[in-house]
Amino acid sequence: MLKDDSTPAGSSADYSERDLKAIWHPYTRLLTSPPPLPIARAEGVRLYGEDGRAYIDAVSSWWVNIHGHSHPRLCRAVCEQIKKLDHVIFAGFTHRPAVELAEKLLAVCPSGLSRVFYSDNGSTSVEVALKMALQYWSNSGRPEKRGFAAFGNAYHGDTVGAMSVSARSVFTRAFAPLLFEVSRAAAPDCYRCPKGLAPAACRAECLDDLEAILAERASSLAAVIVEPLLQAAGGMLIAPPAHLKRLRTLCDRYEVLFIADEVMTGFGRTGKMFACEHAGVSPDIMCLSKAITGGVLPLAATLCTGKIYEAFLSEDPAKTFYHGHSYTANPIACASALENFRIFEDEPVFERIRWIERRFTERLTPLKSLPHVGDVRVLGGVGVVELVRDKKTKEAGGYLDKTGGELAAEFLKRGVLLRPLGNVLYVMPPYVISEKDLDYVLDQIVDVIEEV
Ligand code: PLP
Repeated sequence: MLKDDSTPAGSSADYSERDLKAIWHPYTRLLTSPPPLPIARAEGVRLYGEDGRAYIDAVSSWWVNIHGHSHPRLCRAVCEQIKKLDHVIFAGFTHRPAVELAEKLLAVCPSGLSRVFYSDNGSTSVEVALKMALQYWSNSGRPEKRGFAAFGNAYHGDTVGAMSVSARSVFTRAFAPLLFEVSRAAAPDCYRCPKGLAPAACRAECLDDLEAILAERASSLAAVIVEPLLQAAGGMLIAPPAHLKRLRTLCDRYEVLFIADEVMTGFGRTGKMFACEHAGVSPDIMCLSKAITGGVLPLAATLCTGKIYEAFLSEDPAKTFYHGHSYTANPIACASALENFRIFEDEPVFERIRWIERRFTERLTPLKSLPHVGDVRVLGGVGVVELVRDKKTKEAGGYLDKTGGELAAEFLKRGVLLRPLGNVLYVMPPYVISEKDLDYVLDQIVDVIEEV
Protein backbone atom coordinates (compact mmCIF):
# COMPACT_ATOMS: atom_id res chain seq x y z
CA MET A 1 0.00 0.00 0.00
CA LEU A 2 1.13 3.48 -0.79
CA LYS A 3 1.45 5.41 2.46
CA ASP A 4 1.46 9.12 2.88
CA ASP A 5 1.86 10.41 6.38
CA SER A 6 0.48 13.80 5.45
CA THR A 7 -2.91 12.20 4.77
CA PRO A 8 -5.42 13.23 7.43
CA ALA A 9 -7.61 10.58 8.98
CA GLY A 10 -10.68 10.18 6.80
CA SER A 11 -14.27 10.97 7.65
CA SER A 12 -16.27 8.00 8.87
CA ALA A 13 -19.20 8.84 6.57
CA ASP A 14 -19.72 5.98 4.18
CA TYR A 15 -20.03 7.84 0.93
CA SER A 16 -19.87 4.63 -1.10
CA GLU A 17 -23.17 3.47 0.42
CA ARG A 18 -24.83 6.85 0.01
CA ASP A 19 -23.46 7.16 -3.51
CA LEU A 20 -24.90 3.77 -4.49
CA LYS A 21 -28.36 4.91 -3.42
CA ALA A 22 -28.34 8.22 -5.30
CA ILE A 23 -25.93 8.36 -8.22
CA TRP A 24 -25.74 6.74 -11.64
CA HIS A 25 -22.06 6.67 -12.64
CA PRO A 26 -20.73 6.15 -16.17
CA TYR A 27 -20.24 2.45 -16.97
CA THR A 28 -21.95 1.21 -13.81
CA ARG A 29 -22.83 -2.45 -13.91
CA LEU A 30 -24.79 -2.68 -10.69
CA LEU A 31 -24.31 -6.40 -10.17
CA THR A 32 -20.58 -6.58 -10.70
CA SER A 33 -19.08 -3.12 -10.25
CA PRO A 34 -17.12 -2.52 -7.09
CA PRO A 35 -18.62 0.40 -5.14
CA PRO A 36 -17.23 3.80 -6.10
CA LEU A 37 -14.26 4.92 -4.06
CA PRO A 38 -14.92 8.15 -2.17
CA ILE A 39 -12.17 10.71 -2.77
CA ALA A 40 -11.89 13.59 -0.34
CA ARG A 41 -9.13 15.70 -1.82
CA ALA A 42 -6.26 15.70 -4.28
CA GLU A 43 -2.84 17.27 -4.50
CA GLY A 44 -0.11 16.85 -7.10
CA VAL A 45 -0.38 13.34 -8.52
CA ARG A 46 -2.19 12.00 -5.46
CA LEU A 47 -5.85 11.40 -4.75
CA TYR A 48 -6.76 10.98 -1.09
CA GLY A 49 -9.67 8.76 -0.06
CA GLU A 50 -12.16 9.59 2.68
CA ASP A 51 -10.41 6.88 4.69
CA GLY A 52 -7.06 8.65 4.35
CA ARG A 53 -5.52 6.27 1.79
CA ALA A 54 -3.49 7.83 -1.00
CA TYR A 55 -3.58 6.79 -4.65
CA ILE A 56 -1.28 7.91 -7.45
CA ASP A 57 -3.49 9.14 -10.28
CA ALA A 58 -1.70 7.31 -13.10
CA VAL A 59 -4.49 8.02 -15.62
CA SER A 60 -4.63 11.78 -15.04
CA SER A 61 -8.31 11.43 -14.03
CA TRP A 62 -9.62 10.46 -17.47
CA TRP A 63 -6.65 12.06 -19.25
CA VAL A 64 -7.37 15.65 -18.23
CA ASN A 65 -4.84 16.49 -15.53
CA ILE A 66 -1.38 17.51 -16.70
CA HIS A 67 0.24 19.72 -14.04
CA GLY A 68 -1.03 17.88 -10.95
CA HIS A 69 -4.19 18.25 -8.89
CA SER A 70 -5.10 21.47 -7.10
CA HIS A 71 -2.15 23.25 -8.71
CA PRO A 72 -1.71 26.50 -6.74
CA ARG A 73 -1.51 28.63 -9.91
CA LEU A 74 -4.67 27.14 -11.39
CA CYS A 75 -6.45 27.48 -8.02
CA ARG A 76 -5.47 31.15 -7.87
CA ALA A 77 -6.53 31.85 -11.46
CA VAL A 78 -9.92 30.25 -10.85
CA CYS A 79 -10.48 32.08 -7.53
CA GLU A 80 -9.50 35.46 -8.97
CA GLN A 81 -11.71 35.04 -12.02
CA ILE A 82 -14.82 33.91 -10.14
CA LYS A 83 -14.66 37.09 -8.05
CA LYS A 84 -14.56 39.26 -11.20
CA LEU A 85 -16.90 37.55 -13.65
CA ASP A 86 -18.35 34.11 -13.05
CA HIS A 87 -20.35 33.66 -16.21
CA VAL A 88 -22.05 35.60 -18.95
CA ILE A 89 -24.03 34.61 -22.03
CA PHE A 90 -21.60 34.30 -24.95
CA ALA A 91 -23.98 35.29 -27.73
CA GLY A 92 -23.75 39.03 -28.28
CA PHE A 93 -21.36 39.39 -25.31
CA THR A 94 -17.70 38.66 -24.83
CA HIS A 95 -15.05 38.84 -22.13
CA ARG A 96 -11.32 39.21 -21.69
CA PRO A 97 -10.48 35.57 -20.70
CA ALA A 98 -12.26 34.19 -23.80
CA VAL A 99 -10.54 36.66 -26.13
CA GLU A 100 -7.09 36.18 -24.62
CA LEU A 101 -7.48 32.41 -24.67
CA ALA A 102 -8.59 32.39 -28.32
CA GLU A 103 -5.56 34.51 -29.25
CA LYS A 104 -3.30 32.13 -27.34
CA LEU A 105 -4.82 29.03 -28.96
CA LEU A 106 -4.42 30.53 -32.43
CA ALA A 107 -0.81 31.50 -31.68
CA VAL A 108 0.22 27.92 -30.83
CA CYS A 109 -2.06 25.78 -33.01
CA PRO A 110 -1.08 24.44 -36.45
CA SER A 111 -0.97 27.20 -39.07
CA GLY A 112 -4.08 28.05 -41.04
CA LEU A 113 -6.53 27.73 -38.16
CA SER A 114 -7.83 31.19 -37.43
CA ARG A 115 -11.14 30.99 -35.53
CA VAL A 116 -12.09 29.51 -32.17
CA PHE A 117 -15.59 28.22 -31.39
CA TYR A 118 -16.08 27.41 -27.70
CA SER A 119 -18.15 24.66 -26.11
CA ASP A 120 -17.77 22.65 -22.94
CA ASN A 121 -16.52 19.08 -23.38
CA GLY A 122 -14.77 16.80 -25.85
CA SER A 123 -17.96 15.34 -27.30
CA THR A 124 -19.48 18.77 -27.92
CA SER A 125 -16.27 19.94 -29.59
CA VAL A 126 -16.72 17.02 -32.00
CA GLU A 127 -20.44 17.75 -32.54
CA VAL A 128 -19.49 21.33 -33.38
CA ALA A 129 -16.83 20.11 -35.83
CA LEU A 130 -19.24 17.76 -37.62
CA LYS A 131 -22.01 20.36 -37.86
CA MET A 132 -19.54 23.02 -38.97
CA ALA A 133 -18.17 20.77 -41.74
CA LEU A 134 -21.62 19.80 -42.98
CA GLN A 135 -22.96 23.34 -43.07
CA TYR A 136 -19.74 24.68 -44.58
CA TRP A 137 -20.41 22.66 -47.72
CA SER A 138 -24.10 23.52 -47.85
CA ASN A 139 -23.33 27.23 -47.32
CA SER A 140 -20.77 26.90 -50.14
CA GLY A 141 -23.41 25.62 -52.56
CA ARG A 142 -22.52 21.91 -52.28
CA PRO A 143 -25.19 20.46 -49.96
CA GLU A 144 -24.63 16.97 -51.38
CA LYS A 145 -21.33 16.83 -49.42
CA ARG A 146 -22.92 15.74 -46.17
CA GLY A 147 -21.38 12.36 -45.27
CA PHE A 148 -18.42 11.56 -43.05
CA ALA A 149 -15.53 9.14 -43.18
CA ALA A 150 -13.92 7.87 -40.00
CA PHE A 151 -11.61 5.08 -38.88
CA GLY A 152 -12.12 1.66 -37.36
CA ASN A 153 -11.46 1.65 -33.59
CA ALA A 154 -12.15 5.38 -33.40
CA TYR A 155 -13.66 6.97 -30.31
CA HIS A 156 -14.89 10.57 -30.52
CA GLY A 157 -17.31 10.87 -27.60
CA ASP A 158 -20.70 9.86 -26.25
CA THR A 159 -23.14 12.31 -27.85
CA VAL A 160 -25.07 11.09 -30.90
CA GLY A 161 -22.93 12.65 -33.64
CA ALA A 162 -19.70 11.75 -31.86
CA MET A 163 -20.95 8.18 -31.38
CA SER A 164 -21.86 7.98 -35.06
CA VAL A 165 -18.32 8.74 -36.19
CA SER A 166 -16.89 6.46 -33.49
CA ALA A 167 -16.42 2.78 -34.28
CA ARG A 168 -19.44 0.59 -33.59
CA SER A 169 -18.73 -1.13 -30.29
CA VAL A 170 -20.25 -2.07 -26.98
CA PHE A 171 -20.33 1.70 -26.30
CA THR A 172 -22.66 2.42 -29.21
CA ARG A 173 -24.62 -0.84 -29.67
CA ALA A 174 -27.74 0.17 -27.73
CA PHE A 175 -28.00 3.42 -29.68
CA ALA A 176 -27.61 1.99 -33.19
CA PRO A 177 -31.04 3.24 -34.34
CA LEU A 178 -29.99 6.81 -33.58
CA LEU A 179 -26.63 6.77 -35.35
CA PHE A 180 -26.00 8.00 -38.88
CA GLU A 181 -24.06 5.93 -41.41
CA VAL A 182 -20.36 6.67 -41.79
CA SER A 183 -17.83 5.46 -44.35
CA ARG A 184 -15.45 3.42 -42.24
CA ALA A 185 -11.78 3.08 -43.20
CA ALA A 186 -9.23 0.65 -41.75
CA ALA A 187 -7.81 1.69 -38.38
CA PRO A 188 -4.18 2.81 -38.33
CA ASP A 189 -3.28 -0.18 -36.17
CA CYS A 190 0.46 -0.88 -36.40
CA TYR A 191 0.30 -3.91 -34.08
CA ARG A 192 -2.29 -5.62 -36.26
CA CYS A 193 -1.35 -3.85 -39.49
CA PRO A 194 -4.18 -4.40 -42.00
CA LYS A 195 -1.50 -4.67 -44.71
CA GLY A 196 0.72 -7.03 -42.68
CA LEU A 197 3.64 -4.56 -42.75
CA ALA A 198 6.29 -3.90 -40.12
CA PRO A 199 6.40 -0.28 -38.82
CA ALA A 200 9.84 0.34 -40.40
CA ALA A 201 8.42 -0.45 -43.86
CA CYS A 202 5.24 1.56 -43.36
CA ARG A 203 4.20 4.22 -45.89
CA ALA A 204 0.71 4.52 -44.41
CA GLU A 205 -0.54 1.86 -46.84
CA CYS A 206 -3.52 1.29 -44.52
CA LEU A 207 -4.88 4.53 -46.00
CA ASP A 208 -5.38 2.78 -49.36
CA ASP A 209 -8.70 1.78 -47.86
CA LEU A 210 -9.68 5.41 -47.20
CA GLU A 211 -8.41 6.41 -50.64
CA ALA A 212 -10.72 3.84 -52.23
CA ILE A 213 -13.65 5.32 -50.27
CA LEU A 214 -12.72 8.86 -51.31
CA ALA A 215 -12.24 7.87 -54.95
CA GLU A 216 -15.73 6.40 -54.96
CA ARG A 217 -17.72 8.94 -52.96
CA ALA A 218 -15.77 12.10 -52.05
CA SER A 219 -18.44 14.11 -53.84
CA SER A 220 -20.86 13.11 -51.06
CA LEU A 221 -18.42 13.46 -48.15
CA ALA A 222 -18.02 16.57 -46.00
CA ALA A 223 -15.03 15.48 -43.91
CA VAL A 224 -12.77 12.79 -42.55
CA ILE A 225 -12.34 12.75 -38.77
CA VAL A 226 -9.24 11.29 -37.13
CA GLU A 227 -7.65 10.96 -33.70
CA PRO A 228 -4.17 12.06 -34.79
CA LEU A 229 -1.36 9.57 -34.00
CA LEU A 230 -3.14 7.97 -31.05
CA GLN A 231 -6.49 6.22 -31.07
CA ALA A 232 -7.12 6.36 -27.36
CA ALA A 233 -10.28 4.68 -26.04
CA GLY A 234 -10.19 2.22 -28.96
CA GLY A 235 -7.10 0.57 -27.46
CA MET A 236 -4.29 3.15 -27.30
CA LEU A 237 -3.16 2.45 -30.87
CA ILE A 238 -0.24 4.53 -32.09
CA ALA A 239 0.13 5.47 -35.77
CA PRO A 240 3.23 6.91 -37.46
CA PRO A 241 3.27 10.59 -38.56
CA ALA A 242 3.23 9.30 -42.17
CA HIS A 243 -0.43 8.43 -41.58
CA LEU A 244 -1.34 12.07 -40.94
CA LYS A 245 0.79 13.35 -43.83
CA ARG A 246 -0.88 11.04 -46.33
CA LEU A 247 -4.30 11.76 -44.84
CA ARG A 248 -3.75 15.50 -45.40
CA THR A 249 -2.74 14.83 -49.00
CA LEU A 250 -5.81 12.67 -49.60
CA CYS A 251 -8.17 15.23 -48.07
CA ASP A 252 -6.74 17.93 -50.34
CA ARG A 253 -6.81 15.75 -53.44
CA TYR A 254 -10.42 14.65 -52.94
CA GLU A 255 -11.72 17.94 -51.49
CA VAL A 256 -12.94 16.75 -48.11
CA LEU A 257 -12.27 18.56 -44.84
CA PHE A 258 -9.74 17.14 -42.39
CA ILE A 259 -11.01 17.14 -38.79
CA ALA A 260 -8.34 16.43 -36.17
CA ASP A 261 -9.87 15.32 -32.89
CA GLU A 262 -7.08 16.37 -30.51
CA VAL A 263 -9.36 16.19 -27.46
CA MET A 264 -7.08 13.59 -25.91
CA THR A 265 -3.78 14.22 -27.70
CA GLY A 266 -3.73 18.02 -27.25
CA PHE A 267 -1.61 19.88 -24.71
CA GLY A 268 1.52 17.80 -24.81
CA ARG A 269 0.28 14.28 -24.29
CA THR A 270 2.10 12.93 -27.37
CA GLY A 271 5.27 14.95 -26.71
CA LYS A 272 4.30 17.98 -28.83
CA MET A 273 1.67 20.56 -28.01
CA PHE A 274 -0.61 18.97 -30.63
CA ALA A 275 -0.19 15.56 -32.28
CA CYS A 276 -0.52 17.09 -35.77
CA GLU A 277 2.84 18.81 -35.19
CA HIS A 278 4.65 15.45 -35.39
CA ALA A 279 3.66 15.31 -39.05
CA GLY A 280 3.79 19.04 -39.77
CA VAL A 281 0.19 19.02 -40.97
CA SER A 282 -2.62 21.48 -40.35
CA PRO A 283 -6.18 20.23 -40.17
CA ASP A 284 -9.14 22.28 -41.43
CA ILE A 285 -10.92 21.80 -38.11
CA MET A 286 -9.38 20.85 -34.76
CA CYS A 287 -11.19 19.71 -31.58
CA LEU A 288 -9.70 20.46 -28.16
CA SER A 289 -10.85 19.81 -24.61
CA LYS A 290 -9.69 17.63 -21.67
CA ALA A 291 -6.31 19.19 -20.67
CA ILE A 292 -7.18 22.62 -22.09
CA THR A 293 -7.85 23.97 -18.57
CA GLY A 294 -5.01 21.96 -17.03
CA GLY A 295 -7.70 19.47 -16.07
CA VAL A 296 -9.67 21.45 -13.52
CA LEU A 297 -12.79 22.68 -15.33
CA PRO A 298 -14.82 21.63 -18.38
CA LEU A 299 -14.10 23.62 -21.53
CA ALA A 300 -13.72 22.84 -25.22
CA ALA A 301 -12.71 24.65 -28.37
CA THR A 302 -13.24 23.79 -32.03
CA LEU A 303 -10.78 25.68 -34.22
CA CYS A 304 -11.29 26.18 -37.94
CA THR A 305 -9.78 27.94 -40.93
CA GLY A 306 -10.81 31.40 -42.08
CA LYS A 307 -12.26 29.87 -45.25
CA ILE A 308 -14.72 27.80 -43.22
CA TYR A 309 -15.63 30.75 -40.98
CA GLU A 310 -16.24 33.02 -43.94
CA ALA A 311 -18.73 30.58 -45.46
CA PHE A 312 -21.02 31.36 -42.51
CA LEU A 313 -20.94 35.15 -42.93
CA SER A 314 -24.08 36.17 -44.75
CA GLU A 315 -27.22 38.27 -44.54
CA ASP A 316 -29.10 35.01 -45.09
CA PRO A 317 -30.20 33.65 -41.67
CA ALA A 318 -30.15 30.11 -43.08
CA LYS A 319 -26.34 30.33 -43.27
CA THR A 320 -25.93 31.06 -39.55
CA PHE A 321 -24.26 28.42 -37.40
CA TYR A 322 -27.06 27.74 -34.90
CA HIS A 323 -25.09 26.13 -32.14
CA GLY A 324 -24.45 27.46 -28.64
CA HIS A 325 -24.27 25.97 -25.16
CA SER A 326 -25.27 27.73 -21.93
CA TYR A 327 -21.74 27.52 -20.57
CA THR A 328 -19.98 28.39 -23.83
CA ALA A 329 -16.66 30.10 -23.02
CA ASN A 330 -17.25 30.11 -19.28
CA PRO A 331 -14.86 32.81 -17.98
CA ILE A 332 -13.58 30.76 -15.04
CA ALA A 333 -12.72 27.84 -17.31
CA CYS A 334 -11.07 30.26 -19.79
CA ALA A 335 -9.01 31.81 -16.97
CA SER A 336 -7.85 28.36 -15.95
CA ALA A 337 -6.93 27.55 -19.57
CA LEU A 338 -4.91 30.78 -19.82
CA GLU A 339 -3.01 29.90 -16.66
CA ASN A 340 -2.44 26.42 -18.10
CA PHE A 341 -0.68 28.09 -21.05
CA ARG A 342 1.40 30.25 -18.71
CA ILE A 343 2.54 27.11 -16.88
CA PHE A 344 3.64 25.69 -20.24
CA GLU A 345 5.60 28.90 -20.80
CA ASP A 346 7.22 29.05 -17.34
CA GLU A 347 7.93 25.42 -16.55
CA PRO A 348 9.92 22.71 -18.40
CA VAL A 349 6.72 20.84 -19.32
CA PHE A 350 8.02 19.22 -22.53
CA GLU A 351 11.23 18.12 -20.78
CA ARG A 352 9.05 16.36 -18.21
CA ILE A 353 7.10 14.58 -20.96
CA ARG A 354 10.30 13.52 -22.74
CA TRP A 355 11.63 12.14 -19.48
CA ILE A 356 8.41 10.17 -18.86
CA GLU A 357 8.61 8.83 -22.42
CA ARG A 358 12.19 7.63 -21.86
CA ARG A 359 11.31 5.99 -18.57
CA PHE A 360 8.29 4.23 -20.12
CA THR A 361 10.49 2.93 -22.94
CA GLU A 362 13.20 1.68 -20.55
CA ARG A 363 10.87 -0.01 -18.09
CA LEU A 364 7.99 -1.26 -20.23
CA THR A 365 9.80 -2.52 -23.36
CA PRO A 366 11.33 -5.56 -21.58
CA LEU A 367 7.79 -6.75 -20.79
CA LYS A 368 7.46 -7.58 -24.50
CA SER A 369 9.35 -10.82 -23.91
CA LEU A 370 6.58 -12.19 -21.65
CA PRO A 371 4.37 -14.79 -23.34
CA HIS A 372 1.13 -12.92 -22.61
CA VAL A 373 2.36 -9.46 -23.64
CA GLY A 374 1.62 -8.90 -27.32
CA ASP A 375 2.83 -5.33 -27.67
CA VAL A 376 4.36 -2.45 -25.77
CA ARG A 377 3.76 1.04 -27.17
CA VAL A 378 5.07 4.38 -25.99
CA LEU A 379 4.27 7.88 -27.24
CA GLY A 380 5.08 10.99 -25.19
CA GLY A 381 3.34 10.69 -21.84
CA VAL A 382 1.46 7.50 -22.74
CA GLY A 383 2.79 4.00 -22.05
CA VAL A 384 0.83 0.95 -23.18
CA VAL A 385 1.10 -2.80 -22.52
CA GLU A 386 -1.29 -4.92 -24.59
CA LEU A 387 -2.06 -8.34 -23.15
CA VAL A 388 -2.97 -11.15 -25.53
CA ARG A 389 -4.27 -14.68 -25.19
CA ASP A 390 -2.08 -15.89 -28.01
CA LYS A 391 1.06 -14.07 -28.99
CA LYS A 392 1.20 -15.61 -32.46
CA THR A 393 -2.36 -14.93 -33.55
CA LYS A 394 -2.55 -11.72 -31.41
CA GLU A 395 -5.94 -12.88 -30.20
CA ALA A 396 -7.02 -10.72 -27.26
CA GLY A 397 -10.02 -10.23 -25.01
CA GLY A 398 -10.90 -6.69 -26.06
CA TYR A 399 -12.60 -4.02 -23.99
CA LEU A 400 -14.84 -6.45 -22.10
CA ASP A 401 -11.94 -8.70 -21.07
CA LYS A 402 -12.39 -9.03 -17.33
CA THR A 403 -8.61 -8.97 -16.80
CA GLY A 404 -8.92 -5.20 -17.02
CA GLY A 405 -11.14 -4.94 -13.94
CA GLU A 406 -9.02 -7.43 -12.04
CA LEU A 407 -5.83 -5.54 -12.81
CA ALA A 408 -7.44 -2.23 -11.84
CA ALA A 409 -8.47 -3.70 -8.46
CA GLU A 410 -4.97 -5.06 -7.85
CA PHE A 411 -3.32 -1.72 -8.70
CA LEU A 412 -5.75 0.10 -6.44
CA LYS A 413 -4.72 -2.18 -3.57
CA ARG A 414 -1.16 -1.07 -4.29
CA GLY A 415 -2.17 2.59 -4.19
CA VAL A 416 -2.17 3.26 -7.95
CA LEU A 417 -5.16 4.34 -10.04
CA LEU A 418 -4.89 2.57 -13.40
CA ARG A 419 -7.91 1.72 -15.50
CA PRO A 420 -7.08 -0.71 -18.30
CA LEU A 421 -9.20 -0.74 -21.44
CA GLY A 422 -9.94 -4.47 -21.13
CA ASN A 423 -6.75 -6.21 -22.21
CA VAL A 424 -4.93 -2.93 -22.86
CA LEU A 425 -3.13 -1.55 -19.83
CA TYR A 426 -1.98 2.03 -20.21
CA VAL A 427 -0.31 4.56 -17.95
CA MET A 428 -0.75 8.29 -18.46
CA PRO A 429 0.20 10.30 -15.36
CA PRO A 430 0.20 14.07 -14.88
CA TYR A 431 3.47 15.38 -16.35
CA VAL A 432 4.68 16.56 -12.91
CA ILE A 433 5.00 13.04 -11.52
CA SER A 434 8.28 12.65 -9.59
CA GLU A 435 10.93 10.07 -10.40
CA LYS A 436 10.12 8.22 -7.19
CA ASP A 437 6.39 8.08 -7.91
CA LEU A 438 6.81 7.10 -11.55
CA ASP A 439 9.21 4.35 -10.57
CA TYR A 440 6.73 3.16 -7.95
CA VAL A 441 3.96 2.99 -10.58
CA LEU A 442 6.21 1.20 -13.09
CA ASP A 443 7.43 -1.24 -10.41
CA GLN A 444 3.80 -2.16 -9.70
CA ILE A 445 3.05 -2.58 -13.41
CA VAL A 446 6.08 -4.80 -13.99
CA ASP A 447 5.32 -6.83 -10.88
CA VAL A 448 1.63 -7.32 -11.69
CA ILE A 449 2.14 -8.01 -15.40
CA GLU A 450 4.83 -10.58 -14.67
CA GLU A 451 2.37 -12.30 -12.31
CA VAL A 452 -0.72 -12.35 -14.59
N1 PLP B 1 -12.51 12.66 -28.52
C1 PLP B 1 -11.54 11.87 -28.04
C2 PLP B 1 -10.35 11.55 -28.90
C3 PLP B 1 -11.61 11.37 -26.74
O1 PLP B 1 -10.63 10.57 -26.28
C4 PLP B 1 -12.73 11.72 -25.94
C5 PLP B 1 -12.86 11.22 -24.57
O2 PLP B 1 -12.15 10.35 -24.13
C6 PLP B 1 -13.72 12.54 -26.49
C7 PLP B 1 -13.57 13.00 -27.78
C8 PLP B 1 -14.92 12.92 -25.68
O3 PLP B 1 -14.57 13.82 -24.69
P1 PLP B 1 -15.54 14.05 -23.43
O4 PLP B 1 -15.41 12.82 -22.59
O5 PLP B 1 -14.99 15.26 -22.75
O6 PLP B 1 -16.91 14.25 -23.96
